[in-house]
Amino acid sequence: MNRKLMLENLTSQPQKEWDVLVIGGGATGLGAAVDAATRGFNTLLVEQADFAKGTSSRSTKLVHGGVRYLAQGDVSLVFEALHERGLLMQNAPHLVRNQAFIIPAYEWWEGPFYNIGMKVYDLMAGKLGFGPSQKISKEETLKAIPNLTQKGLLGGVIYYDGQFDDARLAVNLAQTAVENGATVLNYMKVIGLHKDARGILDGALLLDLETNREIAVKARVIINATGVFSDSVRKLDDPSAPNTVVPSQGVHLILEHSFLQGDSAIMIPHTPDGRVLFAVPWHNKVIVGTTDTPLREISLEPRPLPEEIDFLLNTSAQYLKKDPRPEDVLSVFAGLRPLAAPAGSAEQTKDISRRHQITVSLSGLVTVTGGKWTTYRKMAEETIDKAIIVGGLEEKDCVTKHLPIHGYLKNTDFDQPLYYYGADKTILQETVFAEDQSLEEPLHAHLPYLKGEVIWAVRHEMARTVEDFLARRTRALFLDARASIEMAPAVARLMADELGYSRKWIKQQVADYQALAKGYLLTDQ
Ligand SMILES: Cc1cc2nc3c(=O)[nH]c(=O)nc-3n(C[C@H](O)[C@H](O)[C@H](O)COP(=O)(O)OP(=O)(O)OC[C@H]3O[C@@H](n4cnc5c(N)ncnc54)[C@H](O)[C@@H]3O)c2cc1C
Repeated sequence: MNRKLMLENLTSQPQKEWDVLVIGGGATGLGAAVDAATRGFNTLLVEQADFAKGTSSRSTKLVHGGVRYLAQGDVSLVFEALHERGLLMQNAPHLVRNQAFIIPAYEWWEGPFYNIGMKVYDLMAGKLGFGPSQKISKEETLKAIPNLTQKGLLGGVIYYDGQFDDARLAVNLAQTAVENGATVLNYMKVIGLHKDARGILDGALLLDLETNREIAVKARVIINATGVFSDSVRKLDDPSAPNTVVPSQGVHLILEHSFLQGDSAIMIPHTPDGRVLFAVPWHNKVIVGTTDTPLREISLEPRPLPEEIDFLLNTSAQYLKKDPRPEDVLSVFAGLRPLAAPAGSAEQTKDISRRHQITVSLSGLVTVTGGKWTTYRKMAEETIDKAIIVGGLEEKDCVTKHLPIHGYLKNTDFDQPLYYYGADKTILQETVFAEDQSLEEPLHAHLPYLKGEVIWAVRHEMARTVEDFLARRTRALFLDARASIEMAPAVARLMADELGYSRKWIKQQVADYQALAKGYLLTDQ
């Protein structure tokens, strides 16, 4: 996955007609590119920023059926998501792990009620289940989560779901697409769409944001997988197209693992104000979330609202022995759900279905929005099935159901350092670390990341900026924003050496990164 080579693929044959052009390098677009490439179609994917820069690096990191959707009665969505959860665990065992969740019971009815609900969830997962749920005693609940509020605790229900690293899966999907013949490019924005004499889309105008060069490409079918930005691409096709996406913001806080202790996660299906709250161990920290706030503004860097932070701190304090304070928050981040709903809908965003939607415009633009990370593969399958019809491509069956994703490593030991590289870990050690032992040195005392990972990310994972490395190739920004700010100068120097950039580049990168990462801090301390 080398950007220079990818760019050559794109520019060396200007007359080439791509079978499929995918706009957007999040879960949805990358899934579509993998699906199209593995069916043998000539596939190009372009992303205006970095892979997973949008919503796809800002999820709760759950590969799940969605207990809440079950409560809402969206049974078919839960069936589909549970099935996809099982397939993803099989196809990316180096990134998806089985996670125990505890629903604590403080009211007499909660134990039996949630026990029945979770048994239904187990049944729906069928053969791809992650383990049987069960009612547990107060003592067992506290053993699993020693820091749970004890006052009034009666017991709990334990169930199992998946947990993963979203941005790492995105990079691995991009690599999978490339290995199957696709060309994928970050920092390449679609700024125009081209139509033939009949008014049917036949190409796009791209802007390489690294060089400001415009590149025209031809394509038989174009897929708009731009999440909350999908209306802006639809308007490139038809300026009068109505808005169809309702953005809803979700915020997460990261706390030290000591706030939770133990390996189990907490799931609160119904907070006192009717929301769902998770506190989940992730990369040796705890991720607490989320909110569901309708927004008007769409941004690649959405900012948490003060009331969202208050909600997370106050509500988690009701369930944790030690109340988290603003100064305990290591990082705070927001993501926008691209909910598929008509504009002006009276529904509250939390009640809008998470089901995806695929639409085709009169000129043939295939737009796919909504859905979940968990169901990205199924969404991709349906999207490419549709694209085959729209683009008049040869009928070929989807092959991703049992397709190993780049890095696939069975029986991954999640306690080992660098486990998230899966099968690449050995190659990283035998190449980068073998070349120079100083690259095994850590970049920061508070995070596990090593200098050599910067070199690896540049050479093999198309990291182009300090932010790409600290936010998505590693998760430093999300895990401990302050530590990541301190890492930035060393990361910039290593990247500049590898890419042949100047001191000026280093200075600018560090300044840009530090300005961005400050938005992930709650306090100045
Ligand atoms: C708070 C929150 C928590 C969530 N938690 C979970 C969870 O735990 N589990 C789960 O399964 N799902 C979860 N989801 C849902 C999941 O994250 C999303 O469904 C998924 O990431 C959406 O991916 P996407 O590719 O559609 O959008 P995005 O990831 O936003 O990707 C769209 C991309 O298109 C690019 N783009 C836009 N315009 C252009 C252009 N003109 N040219 C080129 N590129 C362009 C953008 O830069 C962006 O990277 C969560 C969502 C949120 C918001």
